[in-house]
Amino acid sequence: MNLAEKKAKIEKLRIQIAGCQRCPLHKTRTHTVPGEGSLEAPIMFIGEAPGQQEDLKGEPFVGRAGEILDQLLASIHLTRQEIYICNILKCRPPNNRNPLPYEISACVGSLDIQVKTINPAIMATLGNFATTYIFQKYGLPPARISQVAGKTFEVNVNDNTKIIVPLFHPAVATYDAGKLGRLLNDFKIIQSLLTKTPKTTVQSL
Ligand code: URA
Repeated sequence: MNLAEKKAKIEKLRIQIAGCQRCPLHKTRTHTVPGEGSLEAPIMFIGEAPGQQEDLKGEPFVGRAGEILDQLLASIHLTRQEIYICNILKCRPPNNRNPLPYEISACVGSLDIQVKTINPAIMATLGNFATTYIFQKYGLPPARISQVAGKTFEVNVNDNTKIIVPLFHPAVATYDAGKLGRLLNDFKIIQSLLTKTPKTTVQSL
């Protein structure tokens, strides 16, 4: 798929998400948060759900967790313009509660389209919810993030090898200071994977 086709697909999806009423979260949201970044990114970061700041701005990871994510990206010399970032849920759960199973099933069709369109070589899942969904989607056995964080998993998608890298959610560093060091260390795996994959690639599906 060329860049113009990717742009058209992602714009169509953005409009669909903006009008989505597939679950009750549409009643409490201020903005939908579809995702953003390079449509040619070799890596897609997948978080959990928008928080308060994200809901207000309509952009992913712009609150406290986003500041930590920026710090982690900077530690491996990556900018937001070089990655794509989105969430499992595109609307904020009230009071930042955990996503509910039926909200996840109502929403993940959009994430699937993002993955298919952007076609990143690497998917970095942030936290338990993203890891659980992506593991199940790509046929990996269920695992808690604490068992798999910082490891790499190769999966075959339509004759393309993709690498899944589960990571602790950056928000954990806001309440567990020790986790920042762990995250900084685990992010190095992304740096080494990216040296084997050009930073921006136009990939065909
Ligand atoms: N946490 C997430 O998982 N996603 C965001 O966009 C913000 C915080």
